[in-house]
Amino acid sequence: MKLGRNKNCWCGSGKKYKKCHLNRDQQKPISIGETHNAAKAIKSNRYCSVPKALKNKCTNKVINAHTVSKSSTLVEIADDTNHVLGLKISMPALIKNKGDIYLEKIGINQASTFKGFCSYHDKSLFSCIEDEGFTKTNEQFFALAYRAICKEVYAKSPNTEILDFIKSADKGKSIISQLAIQSLANCFSLGTDTAFDELNDLKILFDDSLVSNTVLDMCHVIISSNSPCPVSVSSIVAPDVDFEGKKIQDLSNLKVVPEHVIFNSFSSDGNGYIVFSWLKTSLIITGFIETLIRQNVSNIFNALLRFFYCIREYLHISCLVGITNR
Ligand SMILES: [Zn+2]
Ligand SMILES: [Zn+2]
Repeated sequence: MKLGRNKNCWCGSGKKYKKCHLNRDQQKPISIGETHNAAKAIKSNRYCSVPKALKNKCTNKVINAHTVSKSSTLVEIADDTNHVLGLKISMPALIKNKGDIYLEKIGINQASTFKGFCSYHDKSLFSCIEDEGFTKTNEQFFALAYRAICKEVYAKSPNTEILDFIKSADKGKSIISQLAIQSLANCFSLGTDTAFDELNDLKILFDDSLVSNTVLDMCHVIISSNSPCPVSVSSIVAPDVDFEGKKIQDLSNLKVVPEHVIFNSFSSDGNGYIVFSWLKTSLIITGFIETLIRQNVSNIFNALLRFFYCIREYLHISCLVGITNR
């Protein structure tokens, strides 16, 4: 198919064809070095995640907020040199390991942080879980859930730099590869935009509850043990299969808003806790949790570990438990 030089490019960039994909197959392909540099240069945003109504109290200082409690959880599971095992997902590591991901030692100050709260709100919102023992108060349940949601909204917030880089990865490639790469980039963008919108809608519910000081109608399940939990994690996901392997929601259908579950695994006063939280109206999640509770007690930790590995980038494991890498 011939496309006029001054027509809009087929890739949907909005640029003229002559300024975009004309002769792209003859352009210099992107090198691995350029990919490394681009990955390093992509700036993560810095902002405080609280709703507008609370912004007047924000300090200028946006800090490296921990997604799991450093004071209790990470310190409890760290080794003598204050390290835990986690997954550093970086281009050099992925290339070196041929796409496999391995657990590596990470200092607890670097483990699981994000620049999504100012120093005032990080302290005022989360001191109930950072500085106090876990006593199962509504404030603590809210804090655990809110931090997980804000971190995920932060991670999924639209980043045009990443998209532009993926879209430029077809330089020097055949027209068929160009089509495939542009299609992949568009799917990536659609997927992250949809996930961001869904999570942000959920965050607004939590924001409203925070501003109006009302308790959200939520369900929680707590699994506790009398020793620290060797795995620390904090996240929110829309699970597509339950603990018995049955499909429960179709995440590929973007017209249906999936139901989410929030989970936190942490330690407090020498005890370990895994807390699942979800909106009372999320009946698919209620069924999902029932399949967890039906698991044999001896099997429950393994089932949870497999589940946590699905959201592996936020996982931290004690160096002391000797879990094998694969
Ligand atoms: Zn183009
Ligand atoms: Zn703030």
